Amino acid sequence: MITLQHVSKTFPARRRSPAVTALDDVGLRVERGQVMGVVGPSGSGKSTLARIVNLLERPSAGTVTVDGVELTTLGAAELDRARRGIGMIFQQFNLLDSRTVLANVELPLELAGVGRRERRTRAAELLERVGLGDKLDAHPAQLSGGQRQRVGIARALAPRPKVLLCDEATSALDPVSTASVLALLRTLTEELDLTTLLITHEMDVVKRACDHVTLLESGRVVDSGALGDVVRRPGSPLATRLLPPPA
Ligand code: ADP
Ligand code: MG
Repeated sequence: MITLQHVSKTFPARRRSPAVTALDDVGLRVERGQVMGVVGPSGSGKSTLARIVNLLERPSAGTVTVDGVELTTLGAAELDRARRGIGMIFQQFNLLDSRTVLANVELPLELAGVGRRERRTRAAELLERVGLGDKLDAHPAQLSGGQRQRVGIARALAPRPKVLLCDEATSALDPVSTASVLALLRTLTEELDLTTLLITHEMDVVKRACDHVTLLESGRVVDSGALGDVVRRPGSPLATRLLPPPA
């Protein structure tokens, strides 16, 4: 469902700051239905990778293919269409405080030209699904962090995407909300036949929510595989980090 081949991204030098290679020859393959964790320390290129999967950022080299379409070859109009198949959620939720919860979830449908009635029905149905059926008319400021992220998830899913990109989606949440948002993401991936890329700096998130995992370090993939396999593979950088240190 998602394939990156030889993807590099260099941000050019600017006054006082040298050029930065955020991604260096990255390959990634995520099969349909997987929850793929991408884990790495701060500055390792995770957010750049997320933004490259929907081409918010253009790679300096390499190709990005989502659901069989090579995004890196598309013109603006075709790319717009392809992006509707890719939802994204963020650490800071990025909700509009001036809008109700329902109107936030409707927004992407509004932008896509979906009629009012259909928008309402779809948004209400999604909010019900994420457990916020009683908060349609609330404003984001009245909600907890976990509830806001649920609104973010409902909004991302409104255009019926096949792929969901989550960039540090639980990093601003307390442990209880984190657990319930991760459980929700797993359930939705299965029920809605999604493919989910879960980007995080926390190994614990990988252990709880992902079936596959890729480790990024300084813009390079240093380890990747099915969670169970990497945990059992001795000497793998991921296994070393995923397993608790010996007592
Ligand atoms: P992470 O999400 O893993 O913390 P990022 O992808 O945000 O890492 O950043 C990777 C590297 O690329 C960092 O060194 C960061 O400073 C740099 N970087 C990210 N975005 C830009 C940008 N728009 N311009 C210049 N450098 C950037
Ligand atoms: Mg980041």
